[in-house]
Amino acid sequence: MGLTTYLFIVVFAVLLVVAFVATLRLHRERQKNDRLSALVNTGQIYTITWSTDFRLIEVNKSLGDFLKTAQLKPDENFLKRLFLDDASIGTTGGVLLMGAMVKTGRKTVISMPDGSERHIIWRSRIVGSEESCSIVASTGVDITDRVELKEALDSIRHEHAAVSEGLKVASESADFGILTISHADHGYVIDISPNGLTMMNMKEADFMELTDRISSCDRDIFMETIRRIFKGEMSTADVGAGFEVSDGEVHRFVFHFKSTKNPADGLYCITAAFLDTSSKKSIAMAENESDSDPVTGFLKRNSFFAEAQDYLDESVEENLGVAFVSIKLNRFQKIFTLMGNETAEKLLNVYAGGIEKCSAKPAFFGKMSVDTFAAIIPCEGRETALKFVKNLGLYVENSCNGKILPEILTGQSGFTAGIYLYDGNDDVISAYNKAELSLVADFSEDGGNCRFFSDEIAMELYNRDIMEQELRAALSDNQLELYYQPKTDFDGKIYGAEALVRWNHPHSGVISPEAFIPVAEECGLITRIDEWGLMQACRQAKYWQEKGYRKIRVSVNMSHDQLLKTDVVAAIKKALDETQLDPAQLEIEITETMAMQDINRTIELLKKIRSLGVCVSMDDFGTGYSSLSALQQLPVDILKIDRSLIFDICFNPTSYNIIKAIVEMANALDLEVLAEGIETEEQSEILRKLGCHIAQGYFYSKPLSAENMEKMLSELSE
Ligand code: C2E
Ligand code: MG
Ligand code: MG
Repeated sequence: MGLTTYLFIVVFAVLLVVAFVATLRLHRERQKNDRLSALVNTGQIYTITWSTDFRLIEVNKSLGDFLKTAQLKPDENFLKRLFLDDASIGTTGGVLLMGAMVKTGRKTVISMPDGSERHIIWRSRIVGSEESCSIVASTGVDITDRVELKEALDSIRHEHAAVSEGLKVASESADFGILTISHADHGYVIDISPNGLTMMNMKEADFMELTDRISSCDRDIFMETIRRIFKGEMSTADVGAGFEVSDGEVHRFVFHFKSTKNPADGLYCITAAFLDTSSKKSIAMAENESDSDPVTGFLKRNSFFAEAQDYLDESVEENLGVAFVSIKLNRFQKIFTLMGNETAEKLLNVYAGGIEKCSAKPAFFGKMSVDTFAAIIPCEGRETALKFVKNLGLYVENSCNGKILPEILTGQSGFTAGIYLYDGNDDVISAYNKAELSLVADFSEDGGNCRFFSDEIAMELYNRDIMEQELRAALSDNQLELYYQPKTDFDGKIYGAEALVRWNHPHSGVISPEAFIPVAEECGLITRIDEWGLMQACRQAKYWQEKGYRKIRVSVNMSHDQLLKTDVVAAIKKALDETQLDPAQLEIEITETMAMQDINRTIELLKKIRSLGVCVSMDDFGTGYSSLSALQQLPVDILKIDRSLIFDICFNPTSYNIIKAIVEMANALDLEVLAEGIETEEQSEILRKLGCHIAQGYFYSKPLSAENMEKMLSELSE
């Protein structure tokens, strides 16, 4: 190859790389801007700065835009209407207005020209003084979405009450019994439907008698299920138990438990439907229903596999290309819980109808689990499969929108499709499994809801499988280790450290949590890792304190499962008791996304955690799409701004403005602000000036092993 050709190739390659990097940056930038504007637009922070003589009234851009749409002017009248009741408008001056505002927040409702209403919560504080008047900054957060959600839920609850009445009538004539269990002062109180009492051969609903008659081998699991539901650890459960219906005669019952929360006192109550599987009627029913799903009429999983093989063999014989499609409904459990059985069944029927209508013939269908359908459809290639999924999406949207689900839920429902284009080699079970496995893969077709099975997916799943096995061994072989990253003030004075887990893999070296935490989450090992991390971090902090180093607070990351599926409060108490660490030296980090999944329960848990004296921070803030208004309800002490917002703060005005708005809002809510991922002095200076309180990042220190962290602490105390 000549020198010129060589140079040409090198220059061309460099240009390609530059173009690629530029496109990537542009893409990331766009994604971030979308995210940021979602953050600002959905949360809408309004600020109005005003003086008590009303000569200064200044609004930020979002409030300016909002007022224009609302056809209002930011003047004295507006301020008074915003913060006062009609009766006091004429008589109240600026100083009194300020006094009233600064002490408490205020919720206002603003009517828009199109007849809609916006609900805004305001907090005010004095930010300065000028001559004889004070300057007040009022920050408003738009909570309209929350108010609307509450209204929607209230109406759902109302409908639910009507459904409960219907259920009562149904239970009196049905072949199943209904049992309700609620908490009393020193135990449980139960009620059993008349039909249920007959099935159990009981005269009255008596809890002691019920438990006495349950076979001793099933009693523990029955009681444990009730306890766990009351603790909120599970919301539904199916339990089978032997039950002595008369002397020496034991029938097998199945109970389907479901928890409900009494809106009046916030306490859980359990409702269980139960069936006597040994009765002749039930056996007949079970036999009748064994092949097909009673709601949709589609074949159940086992029958689907048994019968689909013939269909597949015929397709192969006729040289007909087919695709296996696994269709999983999104958030079906949530819809079921919120809307009840009837709506859930209607939704399943819409899907069943859509799957039949949208597929070419001959096709073959199954109902594989509570929320998953299977379809084998004639298919010439990717395009046909994509068209099927697209048409199904349109069909479901048209059939559901506003008719079956309230609009507020329609946006959250929908489905994901895993597709395997059959290559003629697998049997039915392996072919369908490939489609189903694709559902959980990260690769998606055009960012949509379709995932085609591919070699990458096969490899990824294989690797995940291996990693899962190795991770189990890692826990028992002490291969996990905590590193500590210092948190400091902006002068570098250390006040705490974040505990970050590392995996010392015997062959691959140190593996970052970003690689193994998602696998641990998927296979359920995460709660064991978190529990270990919590205990280890407390032990370490106590050890450093006993050695006489500066007293620092350690923070521990908490996974979604650890927070919402285990008794996290008990685990924290245990770690504090066993290590005797001062609770003020412990901080729990939860993420914005986790909190938004079940905000009410998160609030309840965080309150309990804080009542132990432990501090709570909101990690990765700014990466989710949650409305800022939700933050106001969450009992947290610190906001940790995610490093994806920090990295370009020096040259991207959007990032700068967003962080400024977050700091303003945090100040209004009395929260401390930590900036994460600070890598340069320039970033640190900007963040200091913006009013962030705490700094964390490579500029101050990378995460350190416990040994190196101790060296740092000992140098500080010299
Ligand atoms: P995170 O909680 O947001 O932790 C901060 C991450 O940012 C850490 O990555 C840290 O090393 C990194 N970081 C800090 N400063 C800088 C900087 O200046 N520049 C850059 N580029 N990165 C910086 P790490 O240790 O890889 O942890 C990643 C994530 O893994 C954590 O994010 C956390 O979500 C999760 N994680 C770590 N340990 C645990 C654990 O024990 N339990 C759970 N559930 N999750 C954990
Ligand atoms: Mg963290
Ligand atoms: Mg973080």
